[in-house]
Amino acid sequence: MVSQKMYELGSKRSVIREIFEFGKKRAAEIGADNVYDFSLGNPSAPAPESVKQALLDLLTQEDSVSVHSYTSAQGDPEVRQAIADYLNGLYGTDYRADRLYMTVGAAASLSVSIKAVAGTGDEVIAFAPFFTEYKVFVEAAGASLVVVPPKRDDFQIEFADFERLINEKTKAVLVNSPNNPTGVVYSEETVVKLCELLKAKEQEYGHAIYLITDEPYREIVYDGVDVPFFPLYYANTLVCYSYSKSLSVPGERIGYVLVPNGMEDADKVYAAICGAGRALGYVCAPSLFQKAIAKCLGETADLSVYKENRDLLYQALKEYGYECVYPQGAFYLFVKALEEDANAFCARAQKHDLLFVPGDDFGCPGYVRISYCVPAERIRRSLPAFERLAEEYRTGFAQA
Ligand code: PLP
Repeated sequence: MVSQKMYELGSKRSVIREIFEFGKKRAAEIGADNVYDFSLGNPSAPAPESVKQALLDLLTQEDSVSVHSYTSAQGDPEVRQAIADYLNGLYGTDYRADRLYMTVGAAASLSVSIKAVAGTGDEVIAFAPFFTEYKVFVEAAGASLVVVPPKRDDFQIEFADFERLINEKTKAVLVNSPNNPTGVVYSEETVVKLCELLKAKEQEYGHAIYLITDEPYREIVYDGVDVPFFPLYYANTLVCYSYSKSLSVPGERIGYVLVPNGMEDADKVYAAICGAGRALGYVCAPSLFQKAIAKCLGETADLSVYKENRDLLYQALKEYGYECVYPQGAFYLFVKALEEDANAFCARAQKHDLLFVPGDDFGCPGYVRISYCVPAERIRRSLPAFERLAEEYRTGFAQA
């Protein structure tokens, strides 16, 4: 017998995957150019040249055995030192290499961090809309995910609900800014308010409440918007970073967890991170890519393509009458469905070969996520279909 819980997780395809598969089938029927697939968050900007150069240098100049060898479980010490130095230069901090844990992307950073601080009977809070996998990671640690309903006017934080839901069992709070799926960046006002509230609750309950920051989109912001760095506001922050989106290397699976100096019992928390990594089998992140990213710190893919896409799509959709919060980061638009049921709206959009994802799985029904990390040409070609779809809702649907 297999574990029923794991069987269910493994056999139920995600809605995003369903839509993606539909897109592939449809492309075979009518040609890929006529299918407007906005379902996946796969970066469309190529990785910068420096990634290729770093790999070539490593493969041609380094010893051919050691370049592929295991590193320490927590990652290569020189790589971790380079990341700590980079962060310290950026934020004026004194983070330490021996408090960094290299991981296979943000998914592993999150799983490890959650497991390190929460277990059976504990609660972990997330704000809707949230990355769908949070529930899986939290439940795999034996804890329960508690969801704060969305603040639909601007998708910042609904503090009254947050205060109502936080309690003695809350061990951690997950935040993701810039956000998938809304594209919203938390303002400094939101960050300060959240951190002050958490400090007060830590005092009240007499134990740490860890803020786990999910940051794969940290650098993907527009209009010069500032992304407050949570550890500068709240000591008990675990930073979960990934190079998947900023360097356009999602398939290479590389990121880290940072236990910042200043965290209460930092050595103990770091040991728990190492323990969770061990328990989950997330030891020694890919050596070649650890070493490659150490040579590319501070680099990103050409992110300007996403800004152009954002501007093009946002302006067009507003013109056609769609409602959408202005996204200042990541590469998603979170658009209000033109009918109450976002699934029905997505099905209607599919008739125009427009593919996007209902907000239900992100904990926010009535909206759809449109990933605009696609070639600009696809967006341009799709605009008449978006316009026709809006028109259809205004004027009524032709009988099939
Ligand atoms: N968190 C968020 C908000 C994401 O959007 C993603 C990927 O899309 C992840 C985590 C997982 O990132 P990674 O591919 O680095 O594991």
